[in-house]
Amino acid sequence: MSEPYTTPTLDTIVALAKRRGFVYPSSEIYGGFVGLYDFGPYGAELAQNIRNVWWRSMVQLEDNIVGLDSAIFTHPKVWVASGHVGGFSDPLVECRECNTRSRADHLIEAAGAFADEKMGLDEINTVFDELREKIPCPNCGKKNFTPVRTFNLLVQSNLGNFSEDWTQDPTYLRGETCQGIYLNFKNVLDTTRVKVPFGIAQVGKAFRNEIAPRQYIFRKREFEQMEMQLFVHPTDAMTLYEEWRTKRMQYYLDLGFRPENLNWHEHENLVFYAKAAWDIEYRFPFGFKELEGVHARGDYDLTQHQKYSGVDLSYFDQTTGERYVPHVVETSVGVDRTFLAVMTEFYHEDMLGGESRIVMRFPYNLAPIKVAVFPLLKNKPELVEKARAIYNTLKQTIRCEFDDNGNIGKRYRRQDEIGTPYCVTIDFDTEKDDTVTVRHRDTGEQSRVPIPELQRVLSS
Ligand code: ATP
Repeated sequence: MSEPYTTPTLDTIVALAKRRGFVYPSSEIYGGFVGLYDFGPYGAELAQNIRNVWWRSMVQLEDNIVGLDSAIFTHPKVWVASGHVGGFSDPLVECRECNTRSRADHLIEAAGAFADEKMGLDEINTVFDELREKIPCPNCGKKNFTPVRTFNLLVQSNLGNFSEDWTQDPTYLRGETCQGIYLNFKNVLDTTRVKVPFGIAQVGKAFRNEIAPRQYIFRKREFEQMEMQLFVHPTDAMTLYEEWRTKRMQYYLDLGFRPENLNWHEHENLVFYAKAAWDIEYRFPFGFKELEGVHARGDYDLTQHQKYSGVDLSYFDQTTGERYVPHVVETSVGVDRTFLAVMTEFYHEDMLGGESRIVMRFPYNLAPIKVAVFPLLKNKPELVEKARAIYNTLKQTIRCEFDDNGNIGKRYRRQDEIGTPYCVTIDFDTEKDDTVTVRHRDTGEQSRVPIPELQRVLSS
């Protein structure tokens, strides 16, 4: 669309998402529970489509990538080996006036200086102290904070532990999905025909005790990741890394994102094992923020698991006779962040037939419902019957909805707001010439389509 675009406000998205059944606050009847949200009927469809589009781009279209669905829980040692037990922490400050907890690095950034979660505690305390006068509490506005301390983000559990004080020996809900991929590197190698370079892709829940899960579904405590780990020869790592950076940006452009709403951001502070780390940022309603990370992780992950498990995780190349521990190129994106980016990117307000409307211009493959089928009038059995018959046929292959509620204008508005690309109306002419009206979401244009043609016309 070449029309001017303005990023909608977060309140606009939140209100639409609630009103139309995309996102609800979790446990709402109990007053909600911070950092948790539920996807409603249309949200569940959109999230599923987001997973499917990603899975297709990775597992279906890439010949050397296979899928995985590993358990959420793992042996607790996994998180020691990965470095999460020792170092997966964010810098936390607490307001002494209202007890609101915030991420110190985010407050420092908002004050115009640089900080990130990888800085040492002394370093971040020094920067924070220098800026104290410029940093108000996001809740009460006072400037009376505790010193910065680190807070580990892993969520603990008592799975399989029946002792009184299980916190001494906890199991962890996974903080990222990729550890399951490293744990199965050897299984996949031994049981499939993959050869380096090859990737393993996984979609699944991750859990983090986020200190300040504000900004809606952008930062949740229970969220979902779509991660792909590509195992590569060390000398190919940076070439393949650059190749995947290009592919991942192209992925968003192919989905219909505007180039000006996407950015590359290079990490200023690399963790010691990383070779390169860039994020794809999206212009969310609160500014450019990380949508996806693309990282060259060296051989850190497999080497650590090799060390802690005692199992050889090297790769033997039968053509060259070389044995080595592969390097990893990782792409990692959240379902929830993609969801918010998609809601933001395709939100649109315009005038149609002299009336203002909200229309979600989702690409066809992401739209929760592809086709809505209406009888022109609810009280004409011959129209309802015909519409039902068409709907029953179409729904076998296309995600459809039947709607006979309210006048046609109202039905169009409801479908526009959930982003349905096509509305099909069965009217009095249908009996005569076996055609229906197909109305196009973005333009409001209508055309007569013969019923036998519908399947084809409505499939993309
Ligand atoms: P941030 O700096 O925003 O906390 P991160 O660098 O910790 O993110 P990664 O650990 O690289 O994030 O996770 C990869 C992806 O998972 C992120 O790009 C994001 O899309 C998603 N993600 C991470 N944390 C959350 C969260 N709390 N809620 C929703 N999505 C998340």
